[in-house]
Amino acid sequence: MEYSFIKSLATPFDLRMVLRALTSVRIGVLSRNLGNYALHEHDVWSQNKRGKIFPTLLYLELTTYCSRNCRGCYIPQEERDDNTMMTRETAHNAIKNGASLGVKFYNFLGGEPVAENTVPLMEEIVGSYPSLTFITCTNGDYIAARSDQLDGLALRNNFSVALSIDGFEGTNDRLRGRNSFRNVVSSAAYLRSRRALFGAVVTLRKLNFEEAISPDFTHFLIRNGFIYVSYAFSDELRGNLQDVAIERIEKHRDPIFKYTSLRGHMGERTQNRIARTISIGKDGSVFDVRKERRMIGTLEQDLEGVSSNRSWLRKFVQEV
Ligand code: SF4
Repeated sequence: MEYSFIKSLATPFDLRMVLRALTSVRIGVLSRNLGNYALHEHDVWSQNKRGKIFPTLLYLELTTYCSRNCRGCYIPQEERDDNTMMTRETAHNAIKNGASLGVKFYNFLGGEPVAENTVPLMEEIVGSYPSLTFITCTNGDYIAARSDQLDGLALRNNFSVALSIDGFEGTNDRLRGRNSFRNVVSSAAYLRSRRALFGAVVTLRKLNFEEAISPDFTHFLIRNGFIYVSYAFSDELRGNLQDVAIERIEKHRDPIFKYTSLRGHMGERTQNRIARTISIGKDGSVFDVRKERRMIGTLEQDLEGVSSNRSWLRKFVQEV
């Protein structure tokens, strides 16, 4: 294995972060997910070397339903009103397709993916594929209200929760609605009590730019037990502002794992190392860009064929 790969793998970790994780997260969760993370990074590295790009992360849109109305949400309102969900057959089919390509990471998305009707399906899936890592991005509303229903997931070693939070209470609730901040903090307290591996998803936009990348906000996340933070960029932030944000995010070596949707983990300088995501809609449609809901195939075709689609490839390599 090349020295450059090992160096890149180690770059985002520092000793304080490792110690913090070891003392607050179950060892079984850490070893399962760090192992998959290393395999994932190696897959990306070797795909680049061979010049063959395949998915390394599958988004599973379990439902498009959501009762919130966050600013900038790209799920159309009529889809957020639709309470249907992905069938178990479609979910298993998607994961089996992904696993046959060597995909280790699966992200349950919505709408809002953590709800009374989706938790049993998530439990079944997470329990059926113990060697794979499942993450869910959630607004935390259901976890805050019904944490008694979450132990079946939170105590699994191959499961992680990413809570959406866009700043301190005033800013966050202005963007994400009333009590959103309170529910995220309450969900974090529950997940911490289960020694789970959990993190934050922060969407940067003009309104929260300064606050959400400030050391104060990062320290708030650390104090509340978040182990990782993933930054996404709204369309409001383009070009220079994106570079400024990444530079400022990387300026401080904080004991929290940092990832950006544009560059991958901290220290990367190009888009060539980001996870190769592909999105599966609740009806089995395959989207290259979930946000624009651009369908490029269905699960009936195998994912290997779908991923030779040029518009999908262009997200990861410039010269296609
Ligand atoms: S919680 Fe997520 S799906 Fe729901 S409105 Fe907000 S951004 Fe959209």
